[in-house]
Amino acid sequence: MQHLTAETFDQNARDALRDPVLHGALRNLADNFAGRRKVAMASVDDWESLREQARLVKEETLLHLDRYLLQFVENAEDAGVKIHWARDGKEACRIVLDLVNNQDVKMVVKSKSMATEEIHLNDALEAEGIEPIETDLGEWIIQLAGETPSHIVVPAIHKTKAQIADLFVEKVGIEKTGNVDVLTKTARDILRRRFAEAQVGISGVNFGVAETGTILILENEGNIRMTTSLPKTHIAVMGLEKIVPKFADLDVFLKLLPRSGTGQRLTAYQSLITGEKLNKDDEGPDEIHIVLLDNGRSRMLSHPVTRQSLACIRCGACLNACPVYQQVGGHAYGSVYPGPIGAVITPQLIGLSKTKQLPYASSLCGACREVCPVKIDIPELLLHLRAEITDGPADGIDIDAPRQRKFSESLAFRMYGFAWSGKAKYELGTKAARLMQKLVVRQGKVGKVSGFIAKLAPPLGAWTAWRDAPIVAQRSFRDEWRMTLKTNDGN
Ligand code: SF4
Repeated sequence: MQHLTAETFDQNARDALRDPVLHGALRNLADNFAGRRKVAMASVDDWESLREQARLVKEETLLHLDRYLLQFVENAEDAGVKIHWARDGKEACRIVLDLVNNQDVKMVVKSKSMATEEIHLNDALEAEGIEPIETDLGEWIIQLAGETPSHIVVPAIHKTKAQIADLFVEKVGIEKTGNVDVLTKTARDILRRRFAEAQVGISGVNFGVAETGTILILENEGNIRMTTSLPKTHIAVMGLEKIVPKFADLDVFLKLLPRSGTGQRLTAYQSLITGEKLNKDDEGPDEIHIVLLDNGRSRMLSHPVTRQSLACIRCGACLNACPVYQQVGGHAYGSVYPGPIGAVITPQLIGLSKTKQLPYASSLCGACREVCPVKIDIPELLLHLRAEITDGPADGIDIDAPRQRKFSESLAFRMYGFAWSGKAKYELGTKAARLMQKLVVRQGKVGKVSGFIAKLAPPLGAWTAWRDAPIVAQRSFRDEWRMTLKTNDGN
């Protein structure tokens, strides 16, 4: 499969819109997830105050991230964990590769982790002759297909059952079947053998607790439990922002994340790992390493608007609610992080010059903000990034954004500002617009029949290519008001 890039989002989206199979696979996304989320939310007494609590915990953590990170590191090291700091994805991959090579192995098992996707760890491992085996069923399916995930929580959401069955015939050599139990048992049998062989297990982290040095990883399949407990070495790759100050804070996020993501009250497994095993003969890995990944996060932290991005707990609710994602799916974003959160994180991770179509991949309807369990204002972030595209980087942010505002656009806004700066100018301007609109209408009605204009002449046609334009009313509110007063005086 061809790997799409964020640079060509517009074209990717157009292609996705023409793909009936993709639409079939995405059709149930909104209904299923939104319905289950609503039921799960209702099982909590006060959902809104829980969201507010989560927002406050994240805000406090991000404001003092340096302090909480050091506390986390100190407590994790006291418990026997080896901590490694990685400035960027390349450095993080190098650290993991060195740790794997130290074990002299040619295969590792991996659990689902957005941080390792972000740094393209699988590519780095394969380049050094190490086979990474994805052990989450969805991730394993897309690894078999040679594809990338299309959803943060459900990586193979774009695939239909029939496509998965065909893939198993081609790659695993079983008889074709539509029986999901047979397909999952096949995957389980294959993966169990790999777990038994693996000497190194690589995972992500959902939360790291500063107070105790504990990491929490959530899942439904049990594969993470095995990845982190069967091999001799466990390596966890963790974004700097995953910290929460106190163990009790987990209570809030454990209520919010599964309900927002998959509509579950709780995931089937919650693995809490605090350091190495106490006795050499106990079960569990001999070594635990945590790679703390920056990769642009410090930069996001430096500005109050972009800082919000780091509050994300990767639940995927904003993807499920987004009308753009529901139509085009995840691959169109050309990024590890799709959907609304991807449209704001990806430009900050890899720069705006290669991603400048992404902040426009939104109608700004606000559905993402409404569902976000940590109340991230994604529309505000999108507008912030759009402003950076047109006006250049904001103070303190080193985002590679070319100045792009066209002369014609600046002129139009200056004229608009002038027309609205006084009563006489405003009235004259609306009269002129009323007359002029007749000249630019290609389809639609102006005049006796009110409504919308379906097609305008260029350059205004760029607007009506995507939406109808409202006509300027034949009489303004002021005209109507004056007429009403006259009529009343007459009576
Ligand atoms: S931005 Fe909010 S809704 Fe979207 S994935 Fe992150 S936490 Fe979930």
